[in-house]
Amino acid sequence: MNLVDYLRISLIDRCNFRCQYCMPAEAALDYVLPPELLTDAEILTLVREVFAPLGFRKFRLTGGEPLLRPGVVDLVRELATLPTTEDLALTTNAFLLADLAQPLYDAGLRRINISLDSLDADTFDQIIGNRGRSRWAQTWAGIQAAHRVGFDPLKINTVVIPGLNDGEVEGLAALTLDRHWHVRFIEFMPIGNAALFGDRAWIPSEELRQRLRARWGLEPASVRGNGPADVFQLPGALGTVGFISQMSECFCDRCNRVRLAADGWLRPCLLNETGQIDLKTALRQGQPTAELRDRVRALLTLKPEINFKERERGTGDRTYSRTMSQIGG
Ligand code: SAM
Ligand code: SF4
Repeated sequence: MNLVDYLRISLIDRCNFRCQYCMPAEAALDYVLPPELLTDAEILTLVREVFAPLGFRKFRLTGGEPLLRPGVVDLVRELATLPTTEDLALTTNAFLLADLAQPLYDAGLRRINISLDSLDADTFDQIIGNRGRSRWAQTWAGIQAAHRVGFDPLKINTVVIPGLNDGEVEGLAALTLDRHWHVRFIEFMPIGNAALFGDRAWIPSEELRQRLRARWGLEPASVRGNGPADVFQLPGALGTVGFISQMSECFCDRCNRVRLAADGWLRPCLLNETGQIDLKTALRQGQPTAELRDRVRALLTLKPEINFKERERGTGDRTYSRTMSQIGG
């Protein structure tokens, strides 16, 4: 059985972007109200007394947009200094990163994943649902700040959407030629706003690889914290290109992660809600953390049966109502 030692913690379900593939364009989402968010103290208690004793050593902070959470730098510091934390990372859209990159680094964060779906300001604004002044330049400034500060690895995540940004794969891959960056192309998942893109919502990674092979060639490579990505290098490049192919190449069998949503629900699988546990309510009702540990341990033993594949076969819970920003992508 796969060792499950990786917890993704959503710090907030709100976001300052409204990416077309992640959130519905107009409909209001049911955001978690501030009193219902896990507090910093609750997150730390859960990590220290529930997850770390169960062997969890890798943590990623996500959202929504995690940099919107007040006090995020202090929480990073607390988590980074726990003796059981071997690997702490954060996923962000970089809009607020220009000012926060250095404080986050100083607080102990070393790994960062940044979502960037386009190098073209108009396309970028279209994808993130921005109708006001362009947000591309501030986002790019955030990425540059992370680069200067020295985050390593610095990963760029791009969700490839036909007709929107699929023509930019070569341009984004070329960023790795003279930068020590790791650009990863993610197959769009039928979650959040899937209907918008119709039948051909995702492009198989192999199609993208063929394009890059034809242009430059691709050599196998690796990078720390690969996770589910298949990693390659353009010949002579400083960085790498990766492919996260959860649609074309199911990797449920290798899955080593569970997700803690901002409102305290623990999910064993991104796309299957079977067995989830409301850890926040349990904590607030005074359930001892030793009992919570037992409940989480029991869920982990069930995890191999609770996955994307089972959901597709119809044997799992098919409730699929939450977006990535709500679950904590
Ligand atoms: N706001 C931060 C960001 O965008 O990096 C963190 C949260 S976001 C939900 C985490 C990741 O989920 C992003 O890389 C985003 O591209 C990805 N994501 C969101 N919806 C997706 C979908 N339907 N299919 C594939 N990836 C998705
Ligand atoms: Fe916000 Fe990230 Fe979702 Fe875009 S992908 S709407 S930045 S949570």
